[in-house]
Amino acid sequence: MNDSNALLTVQNVKKYFKGTKGCQVKAVDDVSFAVAKGETLGLVGESGCGKSTLGRTVLNLVNATEGGVIYEGRDILKLPQTEMRMLRKKLQMVFQNPYSSLNPRMTVLEAVRAPLDIFGIGTKEERFERSRDILKYVGLDEYQMYRYPHEFSGGQRQRIVIARAIISEPDFVVCDEPVSALDVSVRAQVLNLMQDIQKERGVAYLFISHDLSVVKHISDRIAVMYLGKIVEISPRETLYDQPGHPYTQALLSAIPIPDTDIVRERIILKGDLPSPMNPPAGCRFHTRCRFAVEECRMKEPKMRFDESGHGVACHRWKE
Ligand code: SF4
Repeated sequence: MNDSNALLTVQNVKKYFKGTKGCQVKAVDDVSFAVAKGETLGLVGESGCGKSTLGRTVLNLVNATEGGVIYEGRDILKLPQTEMRMLRKKLQMVFQNPYSSLNPRMTVLEAVRAPLDIFGIGTKEERFERSRDILKYVGLDEYQMYRYPHEFSGGQRQRIVIARAIISEPDFVVCDEPVSALDVSVRAQVLNLMQDIQKERGVAYLFISHDLSVVKHISDRIAVMYLGKIVEISPRETLYDQPGHPYTQALLSAIPIPDTDIVRERIILKGDLPSPMNPPAGCRFHTRCRFAVEECRMKEPKMRFDESGHGVACHRWKE
C-alpha cells in the first residue's frame, strides 16, 4: 500500500525503557509502517521481540520515546490527554487474556456499554439497545446480558471483549494475541467473527501474534518483527511463498505441514533472542543468521522495497 490511502501511519517510533545500571531496553526501535482502512496487518515475531509494546505505543497507551503516529492528519502521540481520550472511541484495543480484560463486578451489559457511557454516546435507551444489538451480533442472547464474566467460557468472554471494542465504531483496533488464550476449537470462531466485523464495518486491525498460521488466516499483509525492529513486511501470499528475510524463513519452516508427503527443511535458529538492552551491532539478526557475512556485523541493513510492496531489511536479499 502507499501512504496516500493510509488510515494510520506509524513513523519512526521508538520505545525505550530504563533498564538496570543505567542501560536502556530498546523494546521498539525506529519502526515505521502504515495501515489502510479496512485492512488487517499481521505482526509476528518471537515472544519478547517488542510486538505488544509496539501495539500499545501506537495507541498512545504508553508514551513513545520518539516518533509519530498520524491519524486523521494529526500526530496522536502529541495530542493533549483530553483530545486523546476522545479519540479512543476510534482507536481501540483487544487484549490477549479475556479472563483479566473484564471487570468481574460488572455485568456483561455494563462492560459492553462502558465505552458509550464514557464517551457520552446516545441516550440511556439508545446505549442499552446498542449494547443488546452488539452482543447479539457477537452471538450472545439477551438473557445473558445480566450475567457476570465468570459465567462464560473463554471464547464467549473474548466475544464480549470484542463487542466492547467495536461498540464505539472504531476505525482501528490493535488485537494483541486475541485468540492465543483460547482453545483451538473456538479460535476459528473468534477469528471468523473478527473478519465478519471487518467486512461489515470496515475496521482495520493490527493483529499481533506469535503464531504464523493464525496470522495467515486473517491478515492482508504481514510484518515480521525481530528484536524491536520490523525486518520484513509484505502482502500475505508473498510472505508465505517467497519469504525474503532469513528470520522469516526460519519462522515459516517451523509451521507443521498437514500433508505428510511434503517434506520441508526445518531451519533451527542458533542461540536465544539477544537482549534488547544490548542488541548486536550491524544487523541485529547476525548472531543467529546462517547467511551472515562481514557486512552484516558492521552495517545495519535498511528496509528495501520491490515494486510489489515487499520490503526486507537484509543486505543479502535478492542476491
Ligand atoms: Fe542475515 Fe546479514 Fe541479512 Fe542480517 S543482513 S539477515 S545477518 S544475511
